[in-house]
Amino acid sequence: MELKEVKMEYDVLIVGAGLFGLTMAERLANECDKKVLVIDKRNHIGGNCYSEFDSETGIECHKYGAHLFHTSLENVWEYVNQFTKFTNYIHKVYTTHDGIVYPLPINLGTINQFFQAAYTPDEAKVKIAGQAASAPENPQNLAEQGISLIGKPLFDAFIKNYTAKQWQTPAEELSPDIIKRLPVRYNYDNRYFNDTHEGLPVDGYEAWFQNMIDSCGDKIVVRLETDYFTDSEIQRLRDAGILTIYTGPIDRFYDYQFGELKWRSLDLGKEVLDVDDFQGCPVMNYADLEPKYTRIHEFKHFHPERTTGCYAPGSGKTVIVREYSKTWHLGDEPYYPVNTAEDRAVLSKYQDLAASEQNIIFGGRLGEYAYYDMDKTIAAALAKFDEIKNRV
Ligand code: FAD
Ligand code: UDP
Repeated sequence: MELKEVKMEYDVLIVGAGLFGLTMAERLANECDKKVLVIDKRNHIGGNCYSEFDSETGIECHKYGAHLFHTSLENVWEYVNQFTKFTNYIHKVYTTHDGIVYPLPINLGTINQFFQAAYTPDEAKVKIAGQAASAPENPQNLAEQGISLIGKPLFDAFIKNYTAKQWQTPAEELSPDIIKRLPVRYNYDNRYFNDTHEGLPVDGYEAWFQNMIDSCGDKIVVRLETDYFTDSEIQRLRDAGILTIYTGPIDRFYDYQFGELKWRSLDLGKEVLDVDDFQGCPVMNYADLEPKYTRIHEFKHFHPERTTGCYAPGSGKTVIVREYSKTWHLGDEPYYPVNTAEDRAVLSKYQDLAASEQNIIFGGRLGEYAYYDMDKTIAAALAKFDEIKNRV
């Protein structure tokens, strides 16, 4: 991507070229005619949604973990379709437990396979209700929520140990919302998501994000490998009090003065294999404590519509990534907010400081310490834009 020199003054500085930052940049440039400087400390745009085409196989690999676009928000769907077309991809996930593969999310197929039964939907509901009876009426944490949704045996098989590997935090301390992300169905529908719209950007994620920038002509300038906290040119803009949309970690902004918010990070072990098809599906979860990875992604399966090169049947090549969760330490990528009660108490102190800022707006997954999917990130940015557009 072409980098442009800073040779003009800007109306707005955006820290982070992820979805929050780019959505704000596009709106401010196209709707308010603002000159926007977007910086990112990485060497690419797109934040965690970024993907690249593997040099050996040409297979598109999601660099920071697999990203599947899905939404029921009509304003978001309309917005994103201005910049990319989406494929018809429907996400399906399987899980391995005790040496046997089951469909996810938990559905009638999972239930009947697990209990070696042929329950009808109503029979399965009665069975699971009996097994969920020990859970409180208003679940307060992930463990209670999980058991109330699917009963203890299924929770123990498919959720308990996966969650232990993923979060390394007692399920009693985790938010019930984490598990509410997964549907539970009493039919054989095994779509992973419930949303109205779903698909992957036809030409890849980077093309989508570049189109957002290009739609603004020269009103957006992007500078990569530029850190908000250390770059001297940016320091000059900061000193001048430029309106700033900051999408980095909120605790970093305040120099961790109230302590670090807890994050989960990931190790992503990529391998090119000399086989046509490693696992027969895009994502295989591993529900038990062993193996240590939570899931394996096989990227060619995300694009069944691509049929040339290594995507072609018989190509003899595939790319897989084993995903290992790990505790975040300074220097790691912050991926998932752990969000315990202690984290929320620390966050509210940072939010109090943020509320008194005149020229800084915090947004996005890192800036808000929020477990946002892509569509929720875009929705939050569009809402923030509506809130500020008359005063920028
Ligand atoms: P980010 O994408 O994190 O962008 C923030 C940017 O700010 C980064 O590029 C960072 O380098 C930059 N930055 C930070 N500090 C500085 C600084 N000091 N100076 C300059 N730049 C800085 N959502 C879905 O809808 N579907 C999925 O399947 C899905 N899968 C996911 C899988 C994983 C492993 C993760 C972690 C997230 C997933 N998401 C998914 C969520 C999705 O990644 C987020 O919704 C989206 O990336 C949030 O965009 P953002 O702009 O808030 O943050
Ligand atoms: N989860 C689980 N078993 C699975 C899949 C998910 O226990 O096989 C739980 C786990 O706690 C996980 C949460 O459900 O963190 C949300 O899963 P999702 O696949 O939505 O997570 P993400 O893709 O964001 O990592």
